[in-house]
Amino acid sequence: MMVICIIYFVCCKKLLDALTMANIQTPNAVRGTQDIIAAAQESFAHVVQSFERISRYYGFDMVQVPVIEQTSVFARSLGESTDVVSKEMYTFDDRGGDSITLRPEFTAGISRAFLTNGWQQHAPMKLSAHGPLFRYERPQKGRYRQFHQIDAEIIGAAEPFADTELLIMADQLLREIGIDDGVTLNLNTLGDSESRDAWRQALITYFQDHRNSLSKESLNRLDRNPLRILDSKDDGDKKLCQDAPIIDDYLTNEAQDFFARVTQSLDTAGVDWIRNTRLVRGLDYYRHTAFEFITDRLGAQGTVLGGGRYDGLIENLGGASTPAVGWAAGIERLAMLVNVPEHNGPDAVLIPLGDRAMEAAIAILSDLRRNYIIADMAYKGNMKKRMQKANIKKAKLAIIIGDDELDRGEAAVKNLVSGEQQSCKIDMIVDYVKKS
Ligand code: ATP
Ligand code: MG
Repeated sequence: MMVICIIYFVCCKKLLDALTMANIQTPNAVRGTQDIIAAAQESFAHVVQSFERISRYYGFDMVQVPVIEQTSVFARSLGESTDVVSKEMYTFDDRGGDSITLRPEFTAGISRAFLTNGWQQHAPMKLSAHGPLFRYERPQKGRYRQFHQIDAEIIGAAEPFADTELLIMADQLLREIGIDDGVTLNLNTLGDSESRDAWRQALITYFQDHRNSLSKESLNRLDRNPLRILDSKDDGDKKLCQDAPIIDDYLTNEAQDFFARVTQSLDTAGVDWIRNTRLVRGLDYYRHTAFEFITDRLGAQGTVLGGGRYDGLIENLGGASTPAVGWAAGIERLAMLVNVPEHNGPDAVLIPLGDRAMEAAIAILSDLRRNYIIADMAYKGNMKKRMQKANIKKAKLAIIIGDDELDRGEAAVKNLVSGEQQSCKIDMIVDYVKKS
C-alpha cells in the first residue's frame, strides 16, 4: 500500500510540474535590445579595447557616470525640441516621485558631473567613457533601443586645437580598427552665436517661402528649431535643403577664423575631410565645429561617429560659461564593420577518465591557468565525445588522464594538430605545454 501511495504521489507531482511548465511563457527580450555573443561580441570588445588604448595615448581619463540622471539634465542641455528629448527618452517617476531618465547620450551626464563635482579646477579636462544608452526608436539594423557608445570630451578648452585633437583621435581609431575604407569625415561650422542666429533667420525665411513642400515634421521644426530641417531624413526635405542658405554667408570673422584653424590643423595632421555645408547635428547645443564620420557601407544608418563643439551646454545646466567639444560613436555600428581575426583555441584541454583522474585534472588545470596558459576541461560524455569537444574548441593539446597513467604519475598528451601522442610526467605538464 505504502509503495502504491508513493508511486501515485510521484506521478501526480510530475504531472503538476509538466502542467505548470507548459503554462509559463518565457518572456521575450525587450524590442530593440540585443544579446551579444561570439563573433559579434569579439568585434564589440575589439572596438572598446581599441578606444580605451587610443584614448590613453591622447591623455584622456576614463570616467564612469550614472546610467540614470534627473530628467532635467537631458531636457535642459539637449533642448526640448530635439528628437531625443521630445520622442526618444525613457523617462519615468521613481518610487520617490522624482523624474528620472535613462541616459540617451553621454555629454549631458558628463557635463552634469563636471559641475556637481567641481571639476572646473582641473579644466581643461579630457574625459572618455563607454557604456549603454537608451532611446525609444524604431528598431532596425544599426538602430536599437539599448545601444552602446564610446565617447570622448574635452571640457574647458576654447581653442580650435581641442577640436582638431578629437578629430585626429577619431581618425586614428577608425584606422586602427580597420574601417577607414569608405568612411568620410564630413565637416561643417555652425559659427558662433551671432553667425548662427543670422543663418537661422535666413533659413526661416527660405523655408517659409517653401512651406508647402516641407514634410509635416519639418513644418513643426520650422517654428521650434529650423536648423534641424537640414538634418531631415525625408527625401522632399532633402531636395529643398540643397538650395537653402548656407552658413558661410553669415559667418563672423571670428567664426571664419576658428573654422580655418581647425581645417588647417587637420591638413597638417594628414586627416582627410570634406566640407558638408548642410551638416547640422541633431542636438541644440552645438556651436562652431560639427562633424560626422559617414560610411557608405551601412545604408541609412551610415553615421558611425559624430560630434562637435558645445560651448553653450554647461551654461544651460546652470554652470559658468565653459567651452567644450566632444564626439560619440555607436559601438554596434562600428562593430558591424570590423573584421576581427578568429581567436586561437585553448593551448590544452584536459580529459580526465574517472573520479581520481578528475581530482588530478582539477589540480593540473588550476596550475596551467595560474601560469597564464589558456586551458579547459572536457568532463562530460564518453572518450569520443570529449575528444570531439577538444577538437571543436580548436585546442592544441588534449591531456588525457586515466587510472593507469595516474598510477605512474603521468598523463598522455596528444597533439591535436599532428596527431602525435606522448607521455608526460604530471609535474612537468606546465613546462611541456609552454614549450609546445
Ligand atoms: P542618427 O541620425 O543615426 O539617429 P544621431 O544623430 O541620433 O544619429 P548621435 O546622438 O550623434 O546620433 O549619436 C552618435 C552615434 O551613436 C551615432 O552616430 C550612431 O553611431 C550611434 N547611435 C545613435 N543612435 C543609435 C541607436 N538608436 N542605435 C545604435 N546606434 C546609435
Ligand atoms: Mg537619432
